[in-house]
Amino acid sequence: MSTSTQQRSNAMMRDYDTIEAATALDIVLQSVQPLAPQTVSTFEALDLVLAQEVMAQEDLPPFPCSAKDGFAVIASDTTNPRRLIGEQTAGYIAALRVEPGTCVRITTGAPLPPGADAVIMVEYTHEQDGLVTMQRPVAPGSDVRPVSQDIAKGQRVLASGTSIGPQEIGLLASLGYTSVAAHPRPRVAVLSTGNEIVEPDTLPRPGQIRDSNRYTLIAALRRAGAHPVSLGISTDEEDILLAKVTEGLDTCDALVTSGGVSMGELDLLKPLLETLGQVHFGRVNMKPGKPLTFATVAAKPVFALPGFPVSSLVSFELFVRPALRRMGGHRLVLRPRVPVTLAHSLQGDPGRPEFHRAELVWEDGKCMARSTGAQSSARLLSMVGANALLALPKQDKPFAAGETVMAILLDHPESDPYPPGWA
Ligand code: AMP
Ligand code: MG
Repeated sequence: MSTSTQQRSNAMMRDYDTIEAATALDIVLQSVQPLAPQTVSTFEALDLVLAQEVMAQEDLPPFPCSAKDGFAVIASDTTNPRRLIGEQTAGYIAALRVEPGTCVRITTGAPLPPGADAVIMVEYTHEQDGLVTMQRPVAPGSDVRPVSQDIAKGQRVLASGTSIGPQEIGLLASLGYTSVAAHPRPRVAVLSTGNEIVEPDTLPRPGQIRDSNRYTLIAALRRAGAHPVSLGISTDEEDILLAKVTEGLDTCDALVTSGGVSMGELDLLKPLLETLGQVHFGRVNMKPGKPLTFATVAAKPVFALPGFPVSSLVSFELFVRPALRRMGGHRLVLRPRVPVTLAHSLQGDPGRPEFHRAELVWEDGKCMARSTGAQSSARLLSMVGANALLALPKQDKPFAAGETVMAILLDHPESDPYPPGWA
């Protein structure tokens, strides 16, 4: 027997402790770091996390300008009507100077001509034969945006760690930053495993099953802000699995597999990962997703998710997504958790805490939870229409209608600060 085969068969025999989901999440989050910042084009920076401070290199506005369409005047000048000496529109400097008794037509955003100290809105004037009558006086500074009113040169406008949204991108552009340092999207390799798994565009022969997990997980990775890289499907054969896992780890920041982590003799991922790196846990006290396995290989996280479609997606939500957000530099890595009211009774699981798929709806000012039906871990339809996972403690007797339980909101951006609590 070769050394690696010996190691593998030893590892096969390893009996993994079942750990609590909260402990598993702590282990995962402690095992991953924000990825090293890269310079990215401001256009590509949406939803990334800024890895630098941004200082204003310029004043904004850079010149005093008009906030309205109207006439540039001297506020203290009481001449009425005034003589119109020309116009200043946005985009250039007209060689005009406002003197007492005169005014200049001006448009929004146009530089205030020298001499003027206020703008009167066109709505408060009457213009005829080159003369402008002001229907009300204006105070000095009226409708003038002075230099640096919005941003002063040297001011810090964005802190490192800021999540970059449309307004941050606009702010960067307004200050001339066409690129910034940001944490990149984690590149994540995705592998489906199983002798029975075939591509969705083929007609499965007897005994075969179409690969849904890779499609689901790639979509979930995109939603999590990661960059998915498909490794296709591997059979349950050590050498093929090893080649795929190695390819994923060589080319990506993290690896997500599905299948092959249960107790069957073809469940080869745990022993394979034992030979490559460190398996931190191989069993979690939860339903679905008990066989969830987490390893690090050369400091890269490997999530070996269970094969059942709901188990893999629920474990992705609870463990992979927070880890990827942390790798992306986000400070907030957990979905919001809120108390909700059960709309009907629910049979709990006597053996394990359950993440029950549910739809939350507002009724009479209360957030009510309705089960999505049969909770089989093979039934992807239990996730369809689910906007929450109810974190139900293990319990023999049913949960009663009207009872309050904690719900993890699946359609809401992360809002809990790290470090997390649980349910
Ligand atoms: P396993 O974790 O490999 O024991 O697989 C558990 C169950 O999930 C089996 O019924 C598999 O056929 C199914 N399964 C595994 N991988 C996939 C996949 N990629 N897509 C759909 N079902 C899968
Ligand atoms: Mg399998």
